[in-house]
Amino acid sequence: MSHKIAVLGGDGIGPEVTAEAVKVLKATGAPLEFEYAPVGGAAYDESGHPLPPATLDLCKRADAVLFGAVGGPRYDNLQPAELRPEIGALLALRSELNLYANVRPAKTLRALLQASPLKGTKGAIDLVVVRELTGGIYFGKPRERRDNGTTAVDTCIYHRFEIERIGARAFEVARARGHEIVSVDKANVLETSRLWREVITEMAAANPDVKVSHMLIDNCAMQLVREPQQFDVILTENMFGDVLSDEASMVTGSLGLLPSASLSDAREGHVFGLFEPVHGSAPDIAGQGRANPLAAILSAAMMMRYSFDDAASADRIERSVEEALEAGIRTADIFEKNCRLVSTTEMGDAIAQRLGSG
Ligand code: NAD
Repeated sequence: MSHKIAVLGGDGIGPEVTAEAVKVLKATGAPLEFEYAPVGGAAYDESGHPLPPATLDLCKRADAVLFGAVGGPRYDNLQPAELRPEIGALLALRSELNLYANVRPAKTLRALLQASPLKGTKGAIDLVVVRELTGGIYFGKPRERRDNGTTAVDTCIYHRFEIERIGARAFEVARARGHEIVSVDKANVLETSRLWREVITEMAAANPDVKVSHMLIDNCAMQLVREPQQFDVILTENMFGDVLSDEASMVTGSLGLLPSASLSDAREGHVFGLFEPVHGSAPDIAGQGRANPLAAILSAAMMMRYSFDDAASADRIERSVEEALEAGIRTADIFEKNCRLVSTTEMGDAIAQRLGSG
């Protein structure tokens, strides 16, 4: 039986990098079908809304979503805010598709070790941030209220069920890796964090095969720079995860290489998810063939692993990426001397060819 993938390229370099991810997915030989739909500024230009009903409907019918990126300066000041691609498309998709678990691996690739801002082997990390994605301060109501231009209010709410389901995902991820979770909160100040810590502590007692510890967000931000190798899985709420996952990304030194998965519950035997590169639409380099497609390609590998339970194809894609980098093939953002400079499509070809012969 083939899997249906909704391909939402979006804006800027989004369509360029997703095209290479589709090329690589096809080269795995797995039974996959692709259906395309507009999203973000491109959809707004076409139909007046960044998430047209037909696009949302396609996502709901698909087995997984391959997403590029949305946004750009032309859309930054649209009113009302729901017309802006990041809010009207990305946040809306997360909540409409119930994508409550964001899984972001931050792994330094051997060939790019010197790109880490941390010296020597300190930057050689292999961790995963599991971030709660549909609750907390980004979604609490009342939202973004402002009184008379002098007072502003955001609301942070967490319910026990939201903490339990993201916690369960983190235990699954930890079991497939090093069996260690550091749960990050601000329990010395915030009530939502105190509930978070209570629930995760109960879950730790019920799951003794995974070692769980707790860390305050400010300490974790420091530890990620001081000794990032200490982490296996970092589990945290929405806003803390937003910041920590970007910080962990930077330790690897190569934003253009980082994939992510946003997962929901299982549907008909497989986990539904949206897979996208961590980077944005990079309007500064759009249309020039300079975008690095590896983050999108590695997101496609996560799709094979998490949604389609096909770890073999995921491993083959990841190995092909490592091999291409070790062979000195580089897009402009990660170029070093003595390497071969290639375009977006040539990088996609290099990975697809390695898969075909692997
Ligand atoms: P960005 O990630 O788009 O770009 C930051 C810098 O990194 C730029 O110099 C860009 O050229 C470079 N870069 C990013 N991805 C690259 C790649 N694959 N290959 C080579 N270079 C790459 O972040 P930004 O400039 O802050 O945001 C641009 C737009 O993207 C904004 O509208 C923002 O809101 C949006 N954005 C969207 C998402 C998303 O759709 N998930 C995420 C972040 C930002």
